Amino acid sequence: MSTALDQQQLLPEVTEFLAGGPLKARIGGKEVASSGGATFETYDPGSGKKLADICDLQAEEVDRAVEAGAQAFRETNWAKMPANERSALLHRFAEEIQNRIEIFAQIESLDAGKIYGQAVGDVQNLIDTLRYFADLAQNVQYRTTLAVQGHEAWQVRHPWGVCGFIFPWNFPLLLIGWGISPALAAGNTVVIKPAEDTTLSALYLAKVAKEAGIPDGVINVVTGVGPTAGAALANNPQLQRMSFTGSPEVGRLVAESCARNLVPVKLELGGKGAAVVCDDVNIAETAEKLVGAITFNAGQVCCDATRWIVHSKIYDQFVDECVARMKNVVVGYQLSGQAQMGPVVSEKQRLRILDYLKRGQAEGAELVLEGGLAEVAGREGHYLKPALLAGSLYNVAAREEIFGPVAYLSTFDNDDQAIQMANNTDYGLANSVWSTDLDRASRVAEVLCAGNAWINAHNVFPHGVPYGGVHKSGMGGGVLSADTLRDYWRTMSVVRPL
Ligand code: NAD
Repeated sequence: MSTALDQQQLLPEVTEFLAGGPLKARIGGKEVASSGGATFETYDPGSGKKLADICDLQAEEVDRAVEAGAQAFRETNWAKMPANERSALLHRFAEEIQNRIEIFAQIESLDAGKIYGQAVGDVQNLIDTLRYFADLAQNVQYRTTLAVQGHEAWQVRHPWGVCGFIFPWNFPLLLIGWGISPALAAGNTVVIKPAEDTTLSALYLAKVAKEAGIPDGVINVVTGVGPTAGAALANNPQLQRMSFTGSPEVGRLVAESCARNLVPVKLELGGKGAAVVCDDVNIAETAEKLVGAITFNAGQVCCDATRWIVHSKIYDQFVDECVARMKNVVVGYQLSGQAQMGPVVSEKQRLRILDYLKRGQAEGAELVLEGGLAEVAGREGHYLKPALLAGSLYNVAAREEIFGPVAYLSTFDNDDQAIQMANNTDYGLANSVWSTDLDRASRVAEVLCAGNAWINAHNVFPHGVPYGGVHKSGMGGGVLSADTLRDYWRTMSVVRPL
């Protein structure tokens, strides 16, 4: 598969898709425009050029989408069909995506500024997630006998109905896969609200779902901006479950709306993960992996290792190894084939990151590697160089989520101190421990207060291992595992006294 793509080499399917604008939402299997004709624009973050106009849906159209999902739940055979038939349809859907993986990856790369090869990985992850849950749902007992004295008793599982999903812009397709696959496999219908910066791949997915034979109304996509379309979805009382992935600030608003309607909500929010680097590591190898993590997706990764807590014995050498590598990261256009790090998603995001660098220094952080604006010849995109700060973990740049290629260094002298430093955060998404002593690494990993801890690696997501956040990083987790599949069924007990 070619990775040396450029805009001039876009696949005809991608060009045709983008030319069909303004791109419409997908409701009940049909393309739907905003009633008032309003649109918004989506841009290529790597060139600054407009990619397409997209219909800007208002509350009434979002409500129609939820009604379409509810109707498909009631009136199509999606919820009622045997699990193996539904699973076969989901496998067909996965196959149709697989057949178009380059189309999806180009669309995702263009819209999100993602390095093309990483976009291919994201689409493959979506396919694998669909397949994983399609298989898992076939191996579940839908009717369980309960051994209760003096009674005949059993429990049955039913899908809930129409479920809402709001997604961020950093992993548009991959997160759609993580979110909707268990809901669909369990027999629910879905309404997806993608982020306004990265709507394209969700619309292409809805088109392919129809072509793959997923019944109309089972997968609906509403396009629009957060405070209008997103808020309308979160406010809709007809939803049976809600899932939000994004910032804690918006997560709180979504949770408030759901609470008013008594709709159960899952929140996957931000993070400020730590990497605890012990004194016995292979320094060069660890530096290589952590620099890889903080520059992956231009650091726009919720569970990234952003606070590097390094043993004082190896600190200087570790920093030298990191700086040397970060200086060599090739920043460039996401479809160029040469770039290791693409642009950040928008100018707003670039300014936010630069502001954190300034505020961090103003509060006394040392600027170990300057970072700042990066120039990419011939491209007017939102490019940045990776940066390193160091100092007290009470600094604003060490406490708040920056969401860019910026890591913050600090030192420790013993493991208890490292644990206390890593846990001194409002967030609780993911951390990692780096040591050649696996007993020591396990001991530290188990007491880090978060949904996930990794050993000698960062950003690891095998299907079957529950993923999620605690505290300000979210609630309801269990993503990518049987836990989340179970959330998409309601159980009912039936009892007959003997
Ligand atoms: P965001 O919260 O600004 O937006 C997320 C989504 O919410 C978008 O679709 C947006 O349109 C919508 N939205 C905005 N205002 C809304 C409102 N009033 N009502 C309803 N919906 C509204 O987040 P973002 O900037 O797109 O993404 C970055 C954040 O997402 C970071 O905090 C990151 O850590 C988090 N994130 C978390 C995970 C995870 O798995 N925990 C994964 C990816 C991203």
